[in-house]
Amino acid sequence: MGVAHALKTLAHKGALLQIHRLERPLMSQLIPANDLRQHITRIIAMTGSAPAEAAQVAENLVMANLSGHDSHGVGMVPRYVDAVLEGGLSPNTGVKVLLDTGPLLNLDGQRGYGQITGVQAMQMGIERAKQHGVCTVALSRSHHLGRIGHFAEMAVAQGLVSVHFVNVLSRPVVAPFGGGDGRFGTNPCCIGVPMGSRAPFVLDFATSRVAQGKMRVAHNKGEQVPPGYLIDEHGHPTTDPGVVVVPQSNGLFGALMTFGDHKGFGMAMACELLGGALTGGGTWHREADDKRAVLNSMLTMLIDPVRLGTQATFEQEALAFADWLRQSPDAPGSDGVKLAGEPERTARAEREQSGIWIDDATWAEIEAAEKKLQTRP
Ligand code: NAD
Repeated sequence: MGVAHALKTLAHKGALLQIHRLERPLMSQLIPANDLRQHITRIIAMTGSAPAEAAQVAENLVMANLSGHDSHGVGMVPRYVDAVLEGGLSPNTGVKVLLDTGPLLNLDGQRGYGQITGVQAMQMGIERAKQHGVCTVALSRSHHLGRIGHFAEMAVAQGLVSVHFVNVLSRPVVAPFGGGDGRFGTNPCCIGVPMGSRAPFVLDFATSRVAQGKMRVAHNKGEQVPPGYLIDEHGHPTTDPGVVVVPQSNGLFGALMTFGDHKGFGMAMACELLGGALTGGGTWHREADDKRAVLNSMLTMLIDPVRLGTQATFEQEALAFADWLRQSPDAPGSDGVKLAGEPERTARAEREQSGIWIDDATWAEIEAAEKKLQTRP
């Protein structure tokens, strides 16, 4: 891509403004998705993954960037590399079936790449939901599952409804409502609903006010975040994302807040109870450690509307409701009603064309991770 074209695209996205504000040299790069996929495939292969696994992990990460969720994209690679080097992430490891009754699946992710174990769990669950009408899949002890919407997208592509509750075993970065320090993870929730011939509803969000990875991205860019996202290491409100990225003066971290006050806290706890306790993966109830592995456990419920016998009315009512929502007049200053899943599809269409913007700090971390693998004993 020519420099002129890259600058034009950056200006179009408002990125030049950001770079001016940061007063940093223009080292950030717009990288075509395919080049990034190849580069990341090479690094994941260096962690010991077979070629097909490396390609699948890279594809998933780049898809997160394409979807606008840089927090769950290739910026995770340094963390994955550290986790492999520490022994907390096991390349070339798939799920182990602990129970399979058809409508109930219990799978151990065995610390394999979540981009592999999550897909395996969904493939098995989708097959059984088609057969039995429902399937509940308990997937425990997987390494980081990345963007949970990826799994809902697999289900809706097969005409299935899917509901996911996920917990995170890693340094606890989110404070309970009314609490003053981090006690659990960003515990994501996701609901996928097929919408007939139209694009699906894919609601996929962290129960923290924002994803932890977005704080890493903001910190790397040198940006502040809006009030209401964070408390510092003393429990006071702050706008500095660094409080959850690097240890503070007293050696402690700050914490993210949940979305929606006590309601988001309740959802986060439901993720811990269903995604963590019910799956057998475990909940977080200990002091923070500095291990780099991120373990996710996920409870997935799949429903086949065809087998339920409501397919025709389901589709009709779902589309009628979506149309009703879209008829709402634009609120002043807003760009109108969007349905969950739409922002990701718009980002994909744009970034497939423009390339993926990787900030210089993230790129330096990826290069350092690659170097660690090249020089490991
Ligand atoms: P977010 O705050 O950007 O919310 C995303 C959701 O809101 C999407 O469903 C999107 O379609 C919808 N949305 C966004 N703007 C909208 C609008 N204007 N109108 C209607 N709907 C809109 O996402 P997040 O909470 O920062 O989470 C980002 C990603 O991080 C998710 O993919 C999540 O799965 C992932 N995550 C993963 C883990 C893990 O441990 N694996 C932990 C936390 C988060």
